[in-house]
Formats: sequence, structure tokens, C-alpha cells
Amino acid sequence: MLNRDLLKTGSKPAPGELALVQAVINTLDLEDEKDDLACPELLRLWLIRFGLLEDSDSVSESDWALMMEVREALRQALMANHGDAIGDVALVKLNRLVSQFQMAVEFRRDGRAELVPRSSGIAGAAGRLMAIVAQSVMDGSWGRLKICSSSTCRWAFYDSSKNQSGRWCSMSVCGSRLKAREYRKRRLQKTR
Ligand SMILES: [Zn+2]
Repeated sequence: MLNRDLLKTGSKPAPGELALVQAVINTLDLEDEKDDLACPELLRLWLIRFGLLEDSDSVSESDWALMMEVREALRQALMANHGDAIGDVALVKLNRLVSQFQMAVEFRRDGRAELVPRSSGIAGAAGRLMAIVAQSVMDGSWGRLKICSSSTCRWAFYDSSKNQSGRWCSMSVCGSRLKAREYRKRRLQKTR
């Protein structure tokens, strides 16, 4: 069972396993310049803790670099959930990245089918994250996972508002900060 208490999802957590994808993105705190996955060993421990890697698996420098690419690609992909299309370069990069992870459709006893990673190790962990993404695209929850509009924050949050118009990880922190900045800008323009 996924221990959601330990996942860094913030005050707006995504439902089910999508919280894992959200938490991976939020391991990098851009504002405080703190990275929970700053080295291969930290990444290994993180992945083991959330069941994405076996205790016996190791993480090399290149495994680590691959996962860092996955994390940024996911952040880029989520930016599209505000309505902006993914840029051409980012899209090619993302699809090239995903093509490295072998996936298969597997049936369950109850007749449901699931997308599962075929590889083990880091490719398996990344594949599992991508499978969660694919599943959430199908059930509609993906569109609600967004990146905070504050350019210094970029935190992943789940938008559960009725009209899906949320823009900030926290209205009281990033939202009000941005509003204050816009207000100052408007006031400045008026006095000119
Ligand atoms: Zn924010």
C-alpha cells in the first residue's frame, strides 16, 4: 500500500497513484533550491520507499540522470494542463524518453486490463510512472494535475475546483503573491 503521508504532495494532493507522479515532481523544490533526489543514493532510497524499486536494485549515475530527465519531462508535460500545448522540442524529447520504457497490457482476474512496465530497475520505475500517467489520462484525472503558475514555484498540485481553473499550488502563498505583484504593476502604470 502506498504510504501517502510521506509523499510530498502539498495541500492539494492528487488521488490514488497519481500522487506518486505529483510527488516525484515535487521532490525538487525550486523556491528553496532543495532537491530530495540530489544524488543516486537518495533517488534509490526514495524509489524503494514508495515501492518503485526493489531493495536489491542499485542506481547508477546514468540511471539517476535518466530519472532527472523523466522528472523534468513530466513537469513540462503538465504545463500543457493549463491549456498551453507542449513545445515541439519538449514533445520530441518526451516521446523519445517514453519509448525507452517497455510496457505491456496485462489482464486482471476481474477482467480489467492494466498497463504495466516490462523492465526492472530504473526503467521499470520510470515505466511505472508513465503507466500511471497513461491510466490517469484515460480516467480524466491527468488534466487536473497542474504546475503552479508562479515561475519561481512550479510545484505540482491537483486542481479539484469545479471548473478546473486553478492556477496556483496555494492561493494564499503563490496566488496572493502574484496578485500583489500584478496590483503593483497596474498601480505603477497608472502613475506614469
Ligand atoms: Zn506555487
